Amino acid sequence: MIHAMNHIIASHPQSSQSATGIRVERVETLLVDLPTIRPHKLSVAVMNGQTLMLVKVTCSDGITGIGEGTTIGGLAYGGESPESMKLAIDTYFAPLMIGQDAGRVQALMARIGKMVKDNRFAKSAVETALLDAQGKRTGLPISELLGGRRRDRLPVAWTLASGDTARDIAEAGKMLDLRRHRIFKLKIGAKDLRTDIAHVAEIKRALGDRAAVRVDVNMAWNEVEAAWGMAALADAGCELVEQPVATAPGLSRLVRRFPTALMADESITGPESAFEIARVHGADVFAIKIEQNGGLFNAQRTAAIADAAGIGLYGGTMLEGAPGTVASAHLFATFPRLDWGTELFGPLLLTEEILQEPLDYSDFELTVPNAPGLGIALDEDRVAFFARDGFARKSR
Ligand SMILES: [Mg+2]
Repeated sequence: MIHAMNHIIASHPQSSQSATGIRVERVETLLVDLPTIRPHKLSVAVMNGQTLMLVKVTCSDGITGIGEGTTIGGLAYGGESPESMKLAIDTYFAPLMIGQDAGRVQALMARIGKMVKDNRFAKSAVETALLDAQGKRTGLPISELLGGRRRDRLPVAWTLASGDTARDIAEAGKMLDLRRHRIFKLKIGAKDLRTDIAHVAEIKRALGDRAAVRVDVNMAWNEVEAAWGMAALADAGCELVEQPVATAPGLSRLVRRFPTALMADESITGPESAFEIARVHGADVFAIKIEQNGGLFNAQRTAAIADAAGIGLYGGTMLEGAPGTVASAHLFATFPRLDWGTELFGPLLLTEEILQEPLDYSDFELTVPNAPGLGIALDEDRVAFFARDGFARKSR
């Protein structure tokens, strides 16, 4: 067997070496602080702005790729922050990447994975940049590198999280009039249960059949609260409840007990955790997030597990700006089924445009860009203006 293996390697010497001959030359990071259009209130945090950690990978063929890492409310959501991602990439990722084959994205991510245990958000940012560069190199959008898109446009939900019922109803009405969104997700869990349920019921009553209403509890309830809450939410006309409790066993005890779908979000941190939830039938729907899964390839694996288990798919967001949102859109465009749509509204929550050409949000959907790589171009002057420090400042 060993003899046969040696023979194969010996007869294909190029298979164990660089295939493309294109190397990673530089890895740079940048923090960009952007204000939000209004305070965004979740059970875990109140956001008045968003910080984008941008990573730029420059390759020996002169091609560059851009990736983004973003969190919700600094460290309120998980173990990584934009600042910690920058530090991790500058200090640990970059030396592992420089000089490596830029065209072998999965192999390079595996090399990083060996030396960097967790840091899923930073990995997602770096992988996005490598795929952006590879797409530009081959002339293909990232969705085509991932096996080919099945749709060009994605339904986009909007999150009502002003903290005020009347303001949320007015905001939803405006979104319907603009034909931007007709699926609304309400962030609840920060207030007491009855107040939250009344808030949801009032919004659903006001919108009627014009829009779907869903809620995200962000793990704020215990199981007794969740059982009571899900029954009341079903009565209020809420079609889906996202992560009411923290644990996978807790989710599995709630699923199918109420006529409202149950979605797992925070519990899904990669294919292994997705498999565990699928194994115990712990959810009707998975929220797929590229950052939570540690990159686009891992998110694709998680989606395959959901598909095999008969679990529905929803395209989630970490409230990324345009680069992270578009990377997610390329992946979601490849899913066999996307029954629950997406929530890729991150760029719309920010007051500032950082692209040369804004994304197309129209008729309740987002158009997946069709140019090579991510298919977007940063407005470098705008990015530099809002940069905290990093490559844009240094290059000036
Ligand atoms: Mg969520």
